[in-house]
Amino acid sequence: MPQQPENQPQQGSSGMGATPISITPTAQAGIGPELSPREELYQSLLKILHNATDLGIDRVAHGHLEASLTNPGSKQLLVRDLINQKIINRVQLARAFARHNRARELLSILDIPTEAQALRQDIHPRLRSLLRRERIIPVSIKKDEAGNVTDVHLAHDSPMRDLVLETNVREFFPATAVLHWHFSLREVAGAYWMAGESENIDSDMEAEALLDRVITNAIDARSSDIHIDPSIKGEPRAIIKYRIDGFVHPKEVITTEQLERLRVRIENLARMPKVNLNYANKGAFTRSGYDWRVQIQPHAGRLGPVPRIVLRRLQPDVMPLEVLGYPQDFIDKIKSASSSPNGVVFWTGPTGSGKTEAIHSAVVSANPMAKGLSVHTIEDPPEKRVPGYAVQMEIASEDPNRTGLQLLKSSLRADPDVVIFGEVRDSEMAKLVFEAANTGHLVFTTLHTNTAIDAIARLEELGINGFLLSYVRGIAAQRLVRRLCGHCKVPMPEPDDYTRYVFDRYGVPLQGANLFSSNPEGCANCNYTGYYGRIAAAEWLKPTKEIVQASTDRNYADLEDMARRAGWQPMGRMATQHVRNGITDAAELSTKILELAAESLTG
Ligand SMILES: [Zn+2]
Repeated sequence: MPQQPENQPQQGSSGMGATPISITPTAQAGIGPELSPREELYQSLLKILHNATDLGIDRVAHGHLEASLTNPGSKQLLVRDLINQKIINRVQLARAFARHNRARELLSILDIPTEAQALRQDIHPRLRSLLRRERIIPVSIKKDEAGNVTDVHLAHDSPMRDLVLETNVREFFPATAVLHWHFSLREVAGAYWMAGESENIDSDMEAEALLDRVITNAIDARSSDIHIDPSIKGEPRAIIKYRIDGFVHPKEVITTEQLERLRVRIENLARMPKVNLNYANKGAFTRSGYDWRVQIQPHAGRLGPVPRIVLRRLQPDVMPLEVLGYPQDFIDKIKSASSSPNGVVFWTGPTGSGKTEAIHSAVVSANPMAKGLSVHTIEDPPEKRVPGYAVQMEIASEDPNRTGLQLLKSSLRADPDVVIFGEVRDSEMAKLVFEAANTGHLVFTTLHTNTAIDAIARLEELGINGFLLSYVRGIAAQRLVRRLCGHCKVPMPEPDDYTRYVFDRYGVPLQGANLFSSNPEGCANCNYTGYYGRIAAAEWLKPTKEIVQASTDRNYADLEDMARRAGWQPMGRMATQHVRNGITDAAELSTKILELAAESLTG
């Protein structure tokens, strides 16, 4: 068949989105197996990556690219595999795509043409905020003699054109205008928009505007925490990162002067005590409809301590158990435990596994407030704002009168019916919690263990065993796994080997499964991660007489069998059900579910 020129330029608005790439009639009339336009594109991307000397393709990646070029399989899938296996990264792919389209690559602020600087102010304010939010640089806008826009040049960092985004941008230009997409590193686009905002405003205004933007962007991105980290190499800059669905994503770079102004602004807002920069400091403020917790930790910089700032966004609303993702039979167990007149309900798991969220949902599901019962919460910090809660106390470990233990003691003197107690950390707390259970209180608390079965051993360490275990109404252990992005998830008509393995391991039937996998390129909806939001994968253990007896005898050898007889199933099973329902994929489980993660490390 006739060879296509390797770097065939594309029409302005065609690309890797839904618009097919035009092929010439000669190519269609060629002899031999035809490549579809999409396959030709990926073939071209593979060639560009293979031949490039300046894209950071190492020897190993080069070998893989070589093999992919001669592999008769689908080039699109081969490229996807290379990305999945981290042989090449998204920036390399995006730059190859730019070269395929003969587009520009803006790799530093110096690459931004001067006319782009003026556009920052000249474009429509709504377009400006759209482009700023999406980290797109308006590179240039060309007009004809009559002043009509003919060509719009934009630069961003995604290899995949987002059609929704493109439609939104198009709205601001005549239908005849052609959009040209170029590549720019995300940091470069960030710096472009940052530079625009620090012009002509004084430093207080700048700190205020910066904080405002950082917070608004964090909320838009569904971020739970904002980290502002000074450079560990001592460079005069700091990186602002967002934690989204448990993963930290770098978002923009600021100078150390901006970091310093931001610190002063945040400390004022949060009414934080003035402390020496060598000491940690904390506080809270309300902004954009949310309560924010501030932690400032000194970081040893070259020229003295520099602040490392963490802003945590509290989620005041309590979600129904169904929304957290538990199946109905699991919810029934939680509700039954939560309606007990006394006892202890534990939630276990590492930090960030949704324990606090789940406990409040469990309490609210039983609605003790409606029965006239009094609910106390003792937490650091008190996160949930539930109208019926009688008393909410905040633990301050550094204040001897406000430690968890002291607050729990004072709470129990007021004789509440239900107590939500942040975390059992030592045997003194554990004893007090079980004493409370023994005297007619229902206590919800957390333990830092991996599994529900581990909790039995942990309680033993804390001096809780034998008949005391019969006060335990239930032990939940859980992880949060990411949900596939509903906009871009990819159907998996045939399960891959790993999916088969996971289903087999947890005894979940594959038949009737509605399988999907994450889209490695993602889309604008999921911020190009392929995932959107998280769902709980949990297990539940209620100690039976047999388990209480084993604890009395200190004989834990058959604990797992006993747990199974008590109806316990590993959290991996619920997680696999989520895969079966097309909510997440097996790849996500391989890093989140303990046994699977351990296997992938050793296997
Ligand atoms: Zn998506």
